[in-house]
Amino acid sequence: MKWALIGASTIAGQWMVDAIRSAGDDVVAVVSGSTQRAQAFAHTHQIEHAVSHEHALDALGIDAVYVSNTNDKHEASVLRAATAGQHVLCEKPLAVDLAAAKRMVQACEQAGVVMATNHHLRHNAAHRAMRAHIASQQLGVVSSVRLSHSVYLPKHIQGWRLSDKGAGGGVVLDIAVHNADSLAFLLGEYPTHVCAMTSNTGMAQGMEDNAMSVWRYASGITAFTHQGFNTPFAETHIQVHGDQASLHGTGILTQAPGGTLQLTDASGTRDIALDSDNLYERVVRNMQAAIRGELHANADGAAGLQSLAVAHAVLASATSGHTEAVTYP
Ligand code: NDP
Repeated sequence: MKWALIGASTIAGQWMVDAIRSAGDDVVAVVSGSTQRAQAFAHTHQIEHAVSHEHALDALGIDAVYVSNTNDKHEASVLRAATAGQHVLCEKPLAVDLAAAKRMVQACEQAGVVMATNHHLRHNAAHRAMRAHIASQQLGVVSSVRLSHSVYLPKHIQGWRLSDKGAGGGVVLDIAVHNADSLAFLLGEYPTHVCAMTSNTGMAQGMEDNAMSVWRYASGITAFTHQGFNTPFAETHIQVHGDQASLHGTGILTQAPGGTLQLTDASGTRDIALDSDNLYERVVRNMQAAIRGELHANADGAAGLQSLAVAHAVLASATSGHTEAVTYP
């Protein structure tokens, strides 16, 4: 399959070029708003075509696009790809506002192309093992989850995320969407209500760089979640607690494979073995399966829309000071 990269981004260079190639596909073009940046990216990653406008892709026989420009630009790129009959792997958050994300999902549906959202964390080995343990009821009745996804935003990407609300900056749009997807993958449901507080620790300009919230699910489960940009020494984790056992996943909300998972029950605590599959390669391989019409484990466009709805409810609750119902389009 022939891919084009829409966006000469950090994530494309660090992870996705290799992931697409490792899954057996070709990266044939990169699109950037700057010809110079496109050429530099193409040179570094040995990509044949460097173009400064997406319409130049029409002549290249592209099968699929990976969209990783800033969040405000995702919609136009996805709508063009759908019109051109190209399958879409779009970065999260799908868009800054829900209406745009909805138009993107509808356009792909109407064009009959596969749309996936790059919620890579559900492909982490610990996520997959946790989901299997929960589904086979080894935890008994699950009552609660604690999720901590507070990190230190690396210097080289301390740009628009910290200063540009219009591009989708702020820690909630950036990270809470991942957390909503991880918990939907583990629990099989999205929250109905959220109650949130956010703060600015001095890293971001005019927006939140720290957020904590409690999410309530229809099943009665409550989840505490924490997103942060300014905690260099914090460890990420997900803990799922039931009346028969608890799961503790530590260091599992990362880009690289890794972390640990332990199950504690009446007989003690034991480690659960984890594979070290590349998360992003799994996203690409699952996208290939979806295109073949086979079962897949990716977050699709609708899942990306749902996770964005949760993030917007978190922001709404932090603003209103009240518990907010999540409005799913
Ligand atoms: P970057 O800031 O690296 O890139 C985003 C855009 O910024 C690029 O498309 C590029 O525009 C422009 N840009 C890049 N470098 C420069 C520069 N030196 N000067 C001016 N403009 C520049 O973003 P990220 O890679 O961090 O994020 C891109 C998308 O991927 C976002 O939607 C983000 O949320 C998502 N993401 C997802 C992750 C995941 O694990 N699923 C992880 C990280 C990010 P142009 O294309 O026009 O050259």
